[in-house]
Amino acid sequence: LVCRESKNGRTIIKVGNVEFGGSTLVVIAGPCAVESEEQILTAALAVREAGGNVLRGGAYKPGTSPYPFQGLKEEGLKYLNEAGRIVELPIVTEVINEKTLGYALKYVDIVQIGARNMQNFSLLKAVGQANIPVILKRGYSATINEWLNAAEYIMAEGNDKVIFCERGISSFETATRYTLDISAVPVIKSKSHLPIIVDPSCSSCVNKYIIPLAKAAVAAGADGIMVEMHPKLQDALSDGMQSLDRSQFLELCNQLMAIEKVT
Ligand code: PEP
Repeated sequence: LVCRESKNGRTIIKVGNVEFGGSTLVVIAGPCAVESEEQILTAALAVREAGGNVLRGGAYKPGTSPYPFQGLKEEGLKYLNEAGRIVELPIVTEVINEKTLGYALKYVDIVQIGARNMQNFSLLKAVGQANIPVILKRGYSATINEWLNAAEYIMAEGNDKVIFCERGISSFETATRYTLDISAVPVIKSKSHLPIIVDPSCSSCVNKYIIPLAKAAVAAGADGIMVEMHPKLQDALSDGMQSLDRSQFLELCNQLMAIEKVT
């Protein structure tokens, strides 16, 4: 179901006015985590003002360590939903198990399966039975073949609205937290009809590399990018170092507008 040969042409996934896999680049942005009503609304306004297309915000944060902020849970989903409605942008959030999927279905337009859950097969099946677009992040130790199979799990249950997201893989390199596998973009494009986006925040985890990596992703043919943007970087409860501030995000959007999407 996932492979290119199973379909004529490429899949376009529509969410409101946004098209993943269409002729225009999709920019998803917002904070790593929803921290308060005010924070997510300020972020949402900044995303819309700069020309972003989708608002992101985590309510359940399965961090590598159990001790940092783990999200506001359902309260966070409510704030995200409210902010999305005010700025009239679709919203995406991560789900970490069947229970959180149940909550997310009430509040968001797109669900995200994070790198740490790419092979959580019961979650993949549950998302497959839901009628909602899903961003499937690549596990940081997963091969492209394993990733394609994870998408197959979702599609086999009847949900064909899968968007791949390359977010960096583990490697011997330590200058960045993960190594952005830019090859994944053309490889997925040649193996699958589904759209692929790139997350340059989670891959590098370094603020100053986000813009160049985002541009590299677009040049390689990505259908979109997902970046973390926090209205007050210095106060971020999670992932401040891998987020852009408002002016950097505006700068990124301006630079991306100058690059034509590869189709
Ligand atoms: C995220 O996007 O908030 C996130 C945790 O990403 P990843 O699963 O790629 O680490």
